[in-house]
Amino acid sequence: MSGEHDDQDSTQKIPRMEFPEKKLIPVVCSWCKKIYKLSSWQVSQSKRTGVSHGVCPECLAKFEMEQQKIEQKKK
Ligand SMILES: [Zn+2]
Repeated sequence: MSGEHDDQDSTQKIPRMEFPEKKLIPVVCSWCKKIYKLSSWQVSQSKRTGVSHGVCPECLAKFEMEQQKIEQKKK
């Protein structure tokens, strides 16, 4: 007699916003070297912690401006 297990009573879930294996890793802009955001990474078995590299929105905007300038020069 194995009926359906309706777990309607198990609504006592503990709200967990953060998991112990989730780490905030600073993302450093590889252009201006400043930390522009923190990204949460799921750190599982691999111990790859440290900093991540990217390009901050400011530098990205600069880059796009430069690109536009180059494009204009070409014409
Ligand atoms: Zn930057």
